[in-house]
Amino acid sequence: MSNSNTFFGHPIGLKTLFLTEMWERMSYYGMRALLVLYMTGAITGFNPGLGWSQVEAQAIYGIYVGLVYFMVVPGGWLADNILGHQKAVLIGAIIIALGHYTLAIPITQTFFLGLLLVVLGTGLLKGNISTIVGKLYDAGQDGKRDSGYTIFYMSINIGSTLGFLVCSFLGEKIGWHWGFGAAGIGMTFGVIQFIKSRHLLGDAGAAPNDMDDAKRAKLINYSRVTLIGMFFVIAAGLLGFFTIDPRYFAEQFAYFLTIVAGLYFLYLFIFAGLTATERRNLILLFVLFVGAAAFWSGFDQSAGSLNIFARDYTDLSVAGYIIPVGWLQFFNPIFVVVFAPIFAGVWANLAARNLDPSLPIKFAIGLLFMGLSFVVMLVAVELAMKSSPVGMQWLVLTYLFQTWGELALSPIGLSAFSRYSPKKYVGQMFGLWFLASAIGGVLAGLLGGEALGEGLDSISPVFNFMIKYYLVIAVILIVLSFVIKAKPKET
Ligand code: GLN
Repeated sequence: MSNSNTFFGHPIGLKTLFLTEMWERMSYYGMRALLVLYMTGAITGFNPGLGWSQVEAQAIYGIYVGLVYFMVVPGGWLADNILGHQKAVLIGAIIIALGHYTLAIPITQTFFLGLLLVVLGTGLLKGNISTIVGKLYDAGQDGKRDSGYTIFYMSINIGSTLGFLVCSFLGEKIGWHWGFGAAGIGMTFGVIQFIKSRHLLGDAGAAPNDMDDAKRAKLINYSRVTLIGMFFVIAAGLLGFFTIDPRYFAEQFAYFLTIVAGLYFLYLFIFAGLTATERRNLILLFVLFVGAAAFWSGFDQSAGSLNIFARDYTDLSVAGYIIPVGWLQFFNPIFVVVFAPIFAGVWANLAARNLDPSLPIKFAIGLLFMGLSFVVMLVAVELAMKSSPVGMQWLVLTYLFQTWGELALSPIGLSAFSRYSPKKYVGQMFGLWFLASAIGGVLAGLLGGEALGEGLDSISPVFNFMIKYYLVIAVILIVLSFVIKAKPKET
């Protein structure tokens, strides 16, 4: 490939994926920053919200995040077997845009329909676009692929910065539905650019897996039946034929996700005919999975409890202007862009001296930073109890530590799952990586509801509990890193 036809020295197709993911994350994070504010906002005033309780709203937020990442698993299956990854991304992007436009309709009746469309669309897009990134590189180009993922991670964070900036401003200052609409417009830009530049991907992720026609026809049939079934269940729910208690549902969903993930690991371990090395790698990936789920349960507080702390107990004035609540969240992506090269440099430097920490140790570092971020919040809560509102430096510092944690865990986890998964199962293993995000998301909603149930009073005990579990899991990871002595091997 000629140099003029590359993207920062990478296959030119990365540009297509970079921009699509950027717009998708702009819409995802932009909308998500408004979600609990809208659900718990007062029903009167210039920008009326839905007036729901914190417990309910946080649980719905958790279910939403959980479903978004859970749907990555069937989305991956559909792409692998029927659609091909490129088509799945395109269809997903269109459905996401439709979801945001549905949320932009200023009535509450279509609220859940909008959320469900975003869930289904993201299921088709998020995992599959990450898979195509990997497919741009030949076998043996692992180092290059890793740095491709790092560039891709930048697009995520540039997109979310843009989302917080635009959607939070429009949603909070003009009207919630304007913010949701802006997310839809962002995703529409993503759709247009994907269609225009899809050819740059060549055949990476263009075709589904090879299989004979009869088998494919059978799988298409299964998916049709499932889709029709899903359609009826969703329609019945939206029409009010049954109601769901969000908190109860979130709890059951958390168990469900944990059991599904556990059984899947077990299935792979016992029945997938793996070699001894593949099995050893799988144990390591399972350990990382647990660390990641715990990590995201804190990380996803940003649009949950921390968002409410910003709204209710933080002084948001800057030079006389009250900034939108959601703007505090863009410290996370901005810090990612600033610190990602530094972290990459530190790991490279340590590796050159043979001191590169093992994967569980890096994950433990991630969790310790996450714990530390909540120690900062404990101080902020304490101060707010004495005199509210507090300065925004507390949340900024919290996001700084969370971002350092994220950088020790998230990009590294993604590349570990692409490198050390049994080759035949890489697609599904990516699904498992996102299942950790799903579990984290639901837990975030449950913990956030618990934290805010009684206003400021109930926050400290919950954050205290979270700090303890980060600490415990970090220690377990450190101990395990001594037990799992053998370095993981690519197979
Ligand atoms: N911030 C990253 C993204 O949006 C990771 C989020 C996650 O896996 N929970 O892709």
